[in-house]
Amino acid sequence: ATPMSIMTATGRGAQAGVLIKNAEALERFAKVDTLIVDKTGTLTEGKPKLVAVIANEGHTEDEILRLAASLERGSEHPLAEAIVDGAEARGLELSKTEAFEAITGKGVIGRVDGHAVSLGNARLLDELSLSAEKLGELADERRENGETVMFIVINAVVVGLVCVADPVKETTPQALKALHKLGFKIVMATGDNAKTARAVAARLGIDEIRADVLPEDKARIIQDYQKQGRRVAMAGDGVNDAPALAQADVGIAMGTGADVAIESAGFTLVKGDLNGIVRARRLATATMRNIK
Ligand code: ADP
Ligand code: MG
Repeated sequence: ATPMSIMTATGRGAQAGVLIKNAEALERFAKVDTLIVDKTGTLTEGKPKLVAVIANEGHTEDEILRLAASLERGSEHPLAEAIVDGAEARGLELSKTEAFEAITGKGVIGRVDGHAVSLGNARLLDELSLSAEKLGELADERRENGETVMFIVINAVVVGLVCVADPVKETTPQALKALHKLGFKIVMATGDNAKTARAVAARLGIDEIRADVLPEDKARIIQDYQKQGRRVAMAGDGVNDAPALAQADVGIAMGTGADVAIESAGFTLVKGDLNGIVRARRLATATMRNIK
């Protein structure tokens, strides 16, 4: 493309809330046929809210939520914030955590008030050689509504569930519809549970789902599509998404997300509105047409 047409596209993009890093990103994006999107913070608002606490017999909701939230004060994950805010909204007083450890893609563990406390997903239970038993069925019911469910473990016993919901961004359904019309195959990649992912994807017309993905696997998923001859764009917001954004033919970061994601990306959607991808594609196609 000519420097002039690139400048025009860059200017128009900026007006529409899409920052275009360089001519190369624009040229590559004209050829992309597959769009991989992260769920949390990309399709959804990324500000999960605590919606339910379920305690097994012998425990109270407040007791297990208090321990969970005390533990989560050590984590910077958006899920942790939802739990801490939810506990504070109930007026619970949180305790200090000792021996805190975050296990990427699984959850958190530590000691609170002399108890060994863990909070996380089924993979975390696997790692602790614990079984969810009855709570597993309850968890599945909540996941079918698109909620993210975490198991809380106290002294090596699974004692309850903490359920969190993260609404889909208002702009997402329309943007995905337009992207489909432009011919993209749309794939959701998420560290969340498959049932939760399916519930969210079903409302959005996503073509394929890769769930229960560990952060380090996102880049490998992109490689798999590339090996099939596809040209792949990846949209993500998190610290964990940076390697995938770099692996993609074009990385698309949410301006509302982590700085490293933005650094690894060819495009940045200033307000995180996915309609910016539609706009970017039109600009890319128009720019390439001008040089032929
Ligand atoms: P995403 O792709 O949604 O950004 P992550 O890889 O960050 O996902 O996390 C995947 C899963 O790991 C979460 O859905 C949750 O079940 C669990 N998890 C991660 N961090 C925490 C935490 N601080 N507390 C509880 N669970 C967590
Ligand atoms: Mg994310």
